[in-house]
Amino acid sequence: MRHLSKLNKVGFDSFVHECHRTVFAKIDCTACGLCCRNFGPLFRNTDIKHICAEIGTDPKRFTERYLRQDPDGVGFLLKELPCPFQRADNTCEVYEERTLSCKSFPHTESVNIQKKLVGLALDSLYCPAAFLICEMIMAEY
Ligand code: SF4
Ligand code: SF4
Repeated sequence: MRHLSKLNKVGFDSFVHECHRTVFAKIDCTACGLCCRNFGPLFRNTDIKHICAEIGTDPKRFTERYLRQDPDGVGFLLKELPCPFQRADNTCEVYEERTLSCKSFPHTESVNIQKKLVGLALDSLYCPAAFLICEMIMAEY
């Protein structure tokens, strides 16, 4: 995957988007929940605002209770895992207002995926969908 991230394959994003659709048509994330349990998303200020409006709490109180500064300085991370909004059945208490990071994980519908393949390979260590998508990429390229 590392060598592939340095090449410039035409149509690569479209190929991965198709893989994403194929894999997620078969995978039931509520039977998994490993990303919410083990990783947790990045919270931007807009994410915090939307979630707080949904659950009826104050962003300052929410941040103090659940979050810590991202060391890279681009937002906040959860203080503790699993995510406090993950229910026992792996559904999400704030699903409609979940973060952009939650919505886009494992980022296989994004653009310039070829530059993000090392991250996808790391995600595939615990995300079964990312793993299957990596397998499809390696079979094709
Ligand atoms: S906010 Fe919801 S989707 Fe995002 S990590 Fe928490 S439980 Fe999972
Ligand atoms: S780890 Fe992957 S397959 Fe599992 S719930 Fe998260 S996105 Fe879905």
